[in-house]
Amino acid sequence: MLIVQKYGGTSVGDLERIGHVARKIAAAQDAGNDLVVVVSAMSGETNKLIDYAHHFSPAPSRREMDILLSSGERVTASLLAIALQEMGYPAVAMTGRQAGIRTDDTHMFARIEEINTEAMRNHVNQGRIVVVAGFQGIDQQGNVTTLGRGGSDLSAVAIAGALGADVCEIYSDVDGIYTTDPRIEPHAKKLDRISYDEMLELASLGAKVLQSRSVELAKKMGVTIIARSSFSDAEGTIISEEVAGMEAVLVSGIALDKNQARVSLRDVVDRPGVAAEIFNTLAAEQINVDMIIQNASNDGTTNLGFTVPQSELEQARAVIEGFGEEIGSVDFDEKIAKVSVVGVGMKSHSGVAAAAFSVMAENNINIEMISTSEIKVSMVIDEKFGELAVRVLHETYRLDQ
Ligand code: ADP
Ligand code: ASP
Ligand code: MG
Repeated sequence: MLIVQKYGGTSVGDLERIGHVARKIAAAQDAGNDLVVVVSAMSGETNKLIDYAHHFSPAPSRREMDILLSSGERVTASLLAIALQEMGYPAVAMTGRQAGIRTDDTHMFARIEEINTEAMRNHVNQGRIVVVAGFQGIDQQGNVTTLGRGGSDLSAVAIAGALGADVCEIYSDVDGIYTTDPRIEPHAKKLDRISYDEMLELASLGAKVLQSRSVELAKKMGVTIIARSSFSDAEGTIISEEVAGMEAVLVSGIALDKNQARVSLRDVVDRPGVAAEIFNTLAAEQINVDMIIQNASNDGTTNLGFTVPQSELEQARAVIEGFGEEIGSVDFDEKIAKVSVVGVGMKSHSGVAAAAFSVMAENNINIEMISTSEIKVSMVIDEKFGELAVRVLHETYRLDQ
């Protein structure tokens, strides 16, 4: 089998753990597999590099940031290859460029456009274990780019897709995908399987166990992901197309996202085109607007609320302040949490949303915004109730059974 394995920051968090990962890889090769391994930076390393840059500038140039940030993954890739070589295993470390990963030129959030797999294939054909620095590529001009936070997951899935690997194993400190973050709800249960669509919702709604873009790509390319722990030999969770029986399960998971902020616009002039103008301007600045609520209009004005990632709040503030007259007043709130219930079974069952609203009411948690899709219900609430909401919802849908 050709296996792509990805080891996240905690799994390569110190030298001892890198050694442990080397032994796991060696065992997989001894079992007769061809291996391409993708690694993250040691945990905390990327944040440390960002802090270094902020020592000199509040808004460092994104091109230079990419050269800086890509270095974290190179450290682990080279150390891991050295460790493997010392154990007598032929290994070769590769940067994103050497692995043939070409992206667009959106620094710090680049999209992979194509992967030239020739060099990786040659090494594998000669029996080498290829160790690729995740999270990075180069653009058409040869500038180094990075793929956005958590982007090593995306590197791994893209490489698995391009190589036609049998499976993409993603190793972290949890042994699979749970019904909710086991750090918040210790009774969370591990799922044997979850569909791409559910995983995509959970990931984009805050479950950082997999980066959402990597799940999107896995679905598009038909890459089977197995989420596993590098600290145990437990089975893991398979992420794949929906299989028979999945819809029988009403709710598969609860996600919590505390990295959102709310923008509330009051007394917005109520004429056709105003909302279009506001949201087009936000989109042009690449600000990701999520939930939107508009109240019924009153005296020719209306109130409009929406959420954006906290990291984009300052940009959103600048856009809104540029509007002047058309907006009466504006208010920003970072102390919110978005809690979401996800499950493909919702397509064919009713009452899921109603049950969520009831249990929030019973616990005196005020719901400030709601949005739904075929397979999810999301609610914005006060940040301080985030964990409580996860736990009571988990119980309501009996996810611990
Ligand atoms: P890595 O650094 O290896 O990429 P991450 O920290 O990104 O690993 O992801 C693993 C973490 O994801 C776990 O420690 C866990 O707290 C968190 N997590 C959030 N939601 C879930 C979930 N539904 N199932 C499993 N883990 C989850
Ligand atoms: N090191 C990068 C980050 O911390 C990428 C990754 O770990 O996937 O976001
Ligand atoms: Mg991660």
